[in-house]
Amino acid sequence: MRGILVYLSVHDGRIKRSSLEALSRAREVGASSDMAVEALILNSKATSLADEAFRHGATKVYTLVNPIFDTHLNAPLVTGLTTAINVTMPRLFVAGSTESIKDVLGPLAIRCGAAILPDVASFELSGDDVSCERPVMAAKMMARTKTSHPLVLVSVRSGSYEATPSPSEGSAADIVGIGLDMHTSRLEPVLREVVTTTSDMVDLSEASVVVAAGRGVRDAEGKALIEELASVTGAAIGASRAVVETDLFPATAQIGQTGKVVSPELYFAVGISGAIQHVAGMSNSRVIVAINKDPDAPIFDVATYGLVGDCFKILPILIAELKKVLQ
Ligand SMILES: Cc1cc2nc3c(=O)[nH]c(=O)nc-3n(C[C@H](O)[C@H](O)[C@H](O)COP(=O)(O)OP(=O)(O)OC[C@H]3O[C@@H](n4cnc5c(N)ncnc54)[C@H](O)[C@@H]3O)c2cc1C
Repeated sequence: MRGILVYLSVHDGRIKRSSLEALSRAREVGASSDMAVEALILNSKATSLADEAFRHGATKVYTLVNPIFDTHLNAPLVTGLTTAINVTMPRLFVAGSTESIKDVLGPLAIRCGAAILPDVASFELSGDDVSCERPVMAAKMMARTKTSHPLVLVSVRSGSYEATPSPSEGSAADIVGIGLDMHTSRLEPVLREVVTTTSDMVDLSEASVVVAAGRGVRDAEGKALIEELASVTGAAIGASRAVVETDLFPATAQIGQTGKVVSPELYFAVGISGAIQHVAGMSNSRVIVAINKDPDAPIFDVATYGLVGDCFKILPILIAELKKVLQ
C-alpha cells in the first residue's frame, strides 16, 4: 500500500472523536502527497463501523473482527495492530493519542521496526520526511522532530485538528477483513472486570464540555456544585492534581501533564490556580471559563472568560441561569 493507515479506536460502540480528527488530517496529508488513506478498525462490530470511516474519507477499511478488542488489553491490541501493519505495509500509521495507544505505541514500534512520533500537535509529510511538532516541558515549548524512516507511527493529540466529514466512494466492497493468528486463551493478563466510576460516565478525553475542580472546591458541598454544573451542561468531570490528592475526586479525573489531556468545546476551571502542569492538559480547549477568587491567578491568562469571586457564591447562580437557558 505505502499509503497512510489510520487506526480508529472504538469506545462504547463508537469511533472516538480523536480518531476521526486524525483521519481528517491524514486525508489532507494524503491529498498533498498523492497517497491513499485507509482506515483500520479492531472490534467485534468493526464491519458496521466502516461507514463512519468512509464518511470521513477513508477509501478502504481494514477490519479485525474479534470481541477481544472490545475492551482494552495491550497484548491483543499490539498483536492486532502488528498484523494489520504487516498486511497493509503503510508508509505512515496514524492514530489518535488515546490512553490505549499511549500504552502500545512503544511495543508496536519494536515489533514493526518503525520510528515513532508520539503525541504530536501537528504532522506533515514532505518528500521522504515526516515531521511533527509536539509540546514538551509541560507544553511550555514546542519541539520539532523529523524522520525519514520508511515506516513511521504517529499519534495525534486530541483537539489538534477538526474532525471533518468528506465522503469517499468506499462501499462494502472496500471493507477488507484481516485474519488474526492469535491464541486468546494463552494471553496474559486476562481482563476480569471493567470498573467504571460515576465520573467516567462521560468519557473525559472525548467530552465536548468539561467541568474541572481545583483545590478551591474544597469539600463535599463544593463537589456537589461541580456535579450539578456537570449534570446541567452534560459535562464530564475533571480535577486538578491538588484536589485529587485530597481524595475528593478520583485519580482518573486528573487533567494535566501527569493526567489526561482534554480538548473540549467548553472547559470550566473552578478553583484552579492554573499551574503549567494543569494547563498542559487543557489548553487546547476551545472556550475556557475560569472561576477563581484570586484576580491574579494564572488561569486567567489562558481563560476566554474569567469570573473573579468565590465559587460557592458564583456556581449556584451560574447553575440556575444555565438551567433557565438550557431548558
Ligand atoms: C511533575 C509534576 C506534575 C504535575 N502534574 C499535574 C497534573 O497533571 N495536573 C495538575 O492539575 N497538577 C499537576 N501538578 C501540580 C501542579 O503544579 C499544581 O500544584 C496543581 O495543579 C494545583 O492545583 P489547584 O490549582 O487545584 O490548587 P492550588 O494551586 O492550591 O489553587 C487553588 C486555587 O483555588 C482558588 N480558590 C480557593 N478558594 C476558592 C473559592 N472559594 N472560590 C474560587 N476560587 C478559590 C485559589 O485562589 C487558587 O488559585 C504537577 C506537579 C508536578 C511537579
